[in-house]
Parts: sequence; C-alpha cells; structure tokens
Amino acid sequence: MSQPAADAQNDATRDHLLAVYAPPEQHFVRGEGPYLFTDSDERYLDFFAGIAVSCLGHAHPELVATLQAQAGKLWHTSNALRVPQGEVLAARLAQLSGLSRTFFTNSGSESVECGLKLMRRYQHECGQPQRQRIIGFHGAFHGRSHAAVCAAGNAAHMAGFTASDERCDHAPFNDLDAVAALISDETAGIIVEPVQGEGGITPAGQKFLQGLRALCDEHGLLLMLDEVQCGISRTGTLFAFEQYGVQPDVIALAKGLGAGFPMGACVASEAAAAAMVVGTHGSTYGGNPLAMAVASKVIDLVAAPDFLVQVRTNAAYLNDGLNRLCDAFPDLFKGVRGLGFMTGLVLADEFENAAFVAAVREEKLLVTKAGGNVVRLLPPLNVTQAHIDEALGKLKEAAQKFGPTG
Ligand code: PMP
Repeated sequence: MSQPAADAQNDATRDHLLAVYAPPEQHFVRGEGPYLFTDSDERYLDFFAGIAVSCLGHAHPELVATLQAQAGKLWHTSNALRVPQGEVLAARLAQLSGLSRTFFTNSGSESVECGLKLMRRYQHECGQPQRQRIIGFHGAFHGRSHAAVCAAGNAAHMAGFTASDERCDHAPFNDLDAVAALISDETAGIIVEPVQGEGGITPAGQKFLQGLRALCDEHGLLLMLDEVQCGISRTGTLFAFEQYGVQPDVIALAKGLGAGFPMGACVASEAAAAAMVVGTHGSTYGGNPLAMAVASKVIDLVAAPDFLVQVRTNAAYLNDGLNRLCDAFPDLFKGVRGLGFMTGLVLADEFENAAFVAAVREEKLLVTKAGGNVVRLLPPLNVTQAHIDEALGKLKEAAQKFGPTG
C-alpha cells in the first residue's frame, strides 16, 4: 500500500476508537530490547517503556519463550478451578514482600480497586463499619476506575463521572500534619504512592512514609502503597517500600509485573486479607495461566540480586548524565528528581513538557510527560550504559534545538 493510502486508512480506522488518547503519528510494529521500529523500519530508543511496563524491553527472548510454551498448554480455566502457577507466584510474592495473601488482577486500577475494597471490608469485619473513608493525596494517580479516580481526587479525572470524591479525603503529598488532621473515626486507611509517578516523579520523604505507618498503627488504619509504577525493581529494589523502612499492610502492583502482559496483583498481610472471604471479590481472568507464567519469569529475572545492583548502578549513571545536561542547559532545565529508573527532568516554567517530549521524539527517543512540568524517563530496567549514552545524546540534540514556547 502506498504511504498516502496507508495514512488515509489509518485515519479512517482511528475514527472508530474512543477518542480518549491523542497519540503521535508513528506506528510501531516491532520491538527489540529497548528499541521500537515503525512500519517504515525507523528505529526509536524507548525510554518510556509503555509507561513503566516493558521492564525487560521488547521481545525479551526468555519471556517470549515462556509465553509461547504456556500458550501451547493452557490459556484459561478461571478462578473457579485451581491455577497452580498462581499459587506458586503468590507464595513467591509473600516471601519477597512479607505480605502473605495475593489477589491477581488484569491491571493497576483493578489492583487498587481490590485494595480499597479490602481496607473497607477489613474495618467492617473489625466491628467498625463506619470506617469507610480513604485518605489519598493531591497529585496522586491510582487508575481510571471510579474508586481509583476518587482515591486520587484529581478534579479533571472526576469531572462528569462522579458527583463527589466519594468516601475519600485528600491531603497535600509529604504533609504529615495534614494527614493527621484528616483522620476521623470514619477513616479506614491511607493509599499513597511511595514515588508519585503521573503527578511528577516525586518521592515521598522517608519521615513522611514512616509517619503514615505510625499514624495507621495509632488509629487502627491500614496503610496501602500503590507500587503499580514504582514497584517491580524500578526504583532499584524490588519494592520501593524496602528503601523506606516501612512495612505496608497492602500493596498494589501491575505494569512491570507482567512486563507487557496485562496483569497485576493486590498483595496484603494475613490480618488485612482475612476479611476477604469467598464471595467478597473476584475476577474472571485475574491470575490466568498465561499471566502467571510470564510474571513468574519476570520475578525470576528482576528480583535477582545482580540484576538489582545493575539497575542501581545504571540508574545512577543516567542520573549523573541528566545532571550534566541540566548544567549545560540551565535555562531549559530546573533539575532532576526521582528514585532509581523513575526519573524526572524538571523543565523551567517558560517551557512546556509536552513540547519538549515531542522535540525529543524528533530525535527518535521516546519519553513522556508528568505533572509539575516534568519530562519522565522510564527506560527498560535492563538498558546498558551505551543505551543511556545514546539517550543522553538525543536529549542534548533536542535541547540544543528547542526554543521557548509561546
Ligand atoms: N497506579 C499508578 C501509580 C499508576 O501509575 C497507574 C497507571 N499509570 C495505575 C495505578 C493504573 O494502572 P492501569 O492503567 O494498569 O489500570
């Protein structure tokens, strides 16, 4: 098909999608490691990884082989029957997280949804049925289901969908006093991202997260960490909470856990999970054999101590390079923030992150934006220093060409 004919067809087919996204024109048809290839075989370096999902890059040979092997055996039985791979993976997650019960889901939103239900149900079973309110944070993102949107309290995401931030209260991120002031005898628990992702790659302070744990203990609340974006080795430890000296009651996982196969998990302590008995929750697809096979292999690879050392080393290397870039372009960049390979480049106010993301794409590097005028870099965790040098070179090219917007 000639190019104009192909474009016309693409425009026509696009008209049938719900218009909730505005992607750029490139069509990616193939991936290999940290690279994506367009339909005309142009190569892009992917430091976006499908929003922190493709943690082992594209078409990772061991993951492909694992999925293919499982695909030839069994795809689906439902949770009405035992799924042995899920039982094994849940035991592995228990050993790694210290949280002994897992519910497998198909996405981050569903992992969050399960955790929110679990926190409310826990209080109900503890004889405190009035404890239904969840405390969340300004700038948070927990997904697009009704409950997840309410927990994050972002007015733009709620408009037209929900009359109020239903049974949720919100405090400024990293403000412990504000949280303490919100706690009432109707509070069930707290949900927080150890590193806010969509909000702007903002790490929680150590004292803040530890303070939340103390407040939960003092008031009989559950502490739920949303590690959908920051979990699964992205910050240099399998779970971000390991770096905070805080043990949560519940964690939500997804993204990197399936490395591109859609799946997630809500993992809870024995006590917190006790209220979730037969009939309280469920999913047709959650924990299906395909997802379990892939996620088990992902955990084998990304929880390995050598792999984690490499993530920390290479993330520090990227961080150094980005700091040098900031020094070279002090008018364009305000600084770098984040944790591990959750990296945010903060733009000066007179520049627009979306425009810079587009300029970087011109150099055939994929990154994305985040709140607070941040450009977000979320490379596959197995990138090498050569890939990082390549990305830094492309960022420099883009910075040189980029001018003030407006
Ligand atoms: N929580 C966090 C922290 C996220 O970053 C996201 C996705 N960006 C979600 C939840 C929702 O995940 P999903 O899109 O898979 O539902």
